[in-house]
Amino acid sequence: MKKTKFLIFFILLSVTFFSGCTSSTDNSTERSGNFESIGDIENNSASISGNSSDVLYQVSTIDALLQGVFDGILPVSEIETHGDFGIGTFDGLEGEMLALDGSYYQIKSDGIAYLVSGETTTPFATVTHFENDENFWIEEPANLTELQAIIDLKLPSENLFYAVKVDGNLSYVKARSVPRQEKPYPKLADAVATQSVFEFENVSGTLVGFRIPEYAKGVNVPGYHLHFITADRSAGGHVLDLEIENGEATLDITRVFLMELPDSGDFYNVELGQDLQSDMEKVEK
Ligand SMILES: [Zn+2]
Repeated sequence: MKKTKFLIFFILLSVTFFSGCTSSTDNSTERSGNFESIGDIENNSASISGNSSDVLYQVSTIDALLQGVFDGILPVSEIETHGDFGIGTFDGLEGEMLALDGSYYQIKSDGIAYLVSGETTTPFATVTHFENDENFWIEEPANLTELQAIIDLKLPSENLFYAVKVDGNLSYVKARSVPRQEKPYPKLADAVATQSVFEFENVSGTLVGFRIPEYAKGVNVPGYHLHFITADRSAGGHVLDLEIENGEATLDITRVFLMELPDSGDFYNVELGQDLQSDMEKVEK
């Protein structure tokens, strides 16, 4: 990947269908009926960027999730064609998604990481085909804020999207997961009030997530959003706090951004023009 090329490609694809065009309820038929498929668009984007690993693929928006749009819209079998690495959640906000080395895990509110079946759907996810653009060692103990500052120093620009992976030995990890929500869905800030929190001590494992530029607020979580899984892939969650002893950080610069929006459901009517910063802080901390 050439760092000198700061081409960020926003493709905002709202796959809509017009009433009267189809009466089918088969989503896959509708989604591919009148439009170029997402896969084709992604391949075209990749040829522009020169490398399919450069595509960061996202389902829905963080603000829709904050507003309680929790119905799964795409199956993991489709998400995994867009990436082997990433994070998100599942239908009904049931647990934390973590994808690493091509395996998709659902960390449920019991803290256990379950391998996900392909039919499981997601309302919000961010994934990429992970590649190593830059890696470096974390040699000194660091808390979460310090770790983020260490990584920040290595970034060629604050204005790019990065997939972030840290394999490390951690003296402490505080992580959470959220139980499945029932309809009518609450807002995310209210749903996380029912979260389960897990604390790990002296554990090795991997932090998986993204650093999203500030200007993408509303679309994804600005700054760092990290999930954790233990080295034996048995447990983890959304990271609330940590203390890392040492480890290896790897960054993947993803210059092409591809977002797929729901083709029906709550997303069509939810209010997305508000500033949800205070909700975001409740959810992330
Ligand atoms: Zn999370």
